[in-house]
Amino acid sequence: MKIQKILLGDKMEKILQKKTLPDWVNKLKNYQIIAPVQNENHWDFQILSDPSRIKLDYKNTILSPKKFIFPQREVFFRFRSDEQSSYDLQENLPEEKPAVIFGVRPCDARALTLMDKVFGGDMQDPYYWKRRNATILIGLGCNHPPSENCFCTSVNGSPFSREGLDIMLTEMGDTYFVESISKKGEQLIRQAEALFKNPKEADKSEKKQLKSRAEKEISRKIPNIKNIPSKLETMFDSDFWNEESLSCIRCGICTYLCPTCHCFDINDEIKSNFPIEGERVRTWDNCQFPDFTMHSSGHNPRPDRAARLRQRILHKFQYFVKLYQTYQCTGCGRCVSQCPVGIDIIEILNKVDAR
Ligand code: SF4
Ligand code: SF4
Repeated sequence: MKIQKILLGDKMEKILQKKTLPDWVNKLKNYQIIAPVQNENHWDFQILSDPSRIKLDYKNTILSPKKFIFPQREVFFRFRSDEQSSYDLQENLPEEKPAVIFGVRPCDARALTLMDKVFGGDMQDPYYWKRRNATILIGLGCNHPPSENCFCTSVNGSPFSREGLDIMLTEMGDTYFVESISKKGEQLIRQAEALFKNPKEADKSEKKQLKSRAEKEISRKIPNIKNIPSKLETMFDSDFWNEESLSCIRCGICTYLCPTCHCFDINDEIKSNFPIEGERVRTWDNCQFPDFTMHSSGHNPRPDRAARLRQRILHKFQYFVKLYQTYQCTGCGRCVSQCPVGIDIIEILNKVDAR
């Protein structure tokens, strides 16, 4: 199964007044609407029941919208048996509920295109694709870096990258410059066409200027990223990993917050012993946890934090590059900003380059 995205010959360009954004959302009655919502001290993507609550003047969320396509916990099927030998199995595929996610940052949309490679290879994951194909992504370009640790431009991204998006919004004062990227996006604009106006030449040139200014504002960089995969190939047994991981408290925050991390565990959760009843459940797993690779014999091939940090870096910047010719990182900066002990993937990669 491949993502059903039909690219346009001619894209649509429109202007939308910010104050009419809730009116557009109101017209999308057949869709579940997901958007960033402000909590006490952070923003979080949530399902909106009241479209008038939509507000896109946020920097970035702690968790990316990945959680709506690849949820943290999901039931594959339920089982029941009165005897040991025969089981009733009830598949639990996700409902095909069309959804629109507003305000997706370009790095998080690109992250989903990387997830597509993992869940769309030889073994297609129907649970992932049911949601992915039913979801339309409306991006919000980053006029200014949402975080001081953004580094998208070092990993083939940009504050206005369109990869993975159906529509791109650019904030311009009281308005949004709205561009369709896919046919699905175009259809979404057409559902409320009267709300949109055609842009003037001055709007188009303002948008261009915003884009080029935004790229210059990204201060964190990995100048020689192209050298990194081959350098990492020679560093598997290096002491470097010991030095860099000394302060790691193996909390797993870096991987749980990463929009591209996709490791999972599958368990049977037993609800009753007679009759036997339970659920087969997939949950996010985390390569920074000691028991991630623990064998039932007690042997652990990644026994310490050095081996686990090495795995995180090598997976993203060596193994993934070999498999898919792209880094498994979109430079969102979350793992840097949220690590409680200040382990910084940008610094680590620049040190690798300097070796
Ligand atoms: S967030 Fe920092 S301390 Fe926590 S596991 Fe990741 S690197 Fe280690
Ligand atoms: S590795 Fe860090 S910077 Fe890169 S995508 Fe994941 S959380 Fe973002």
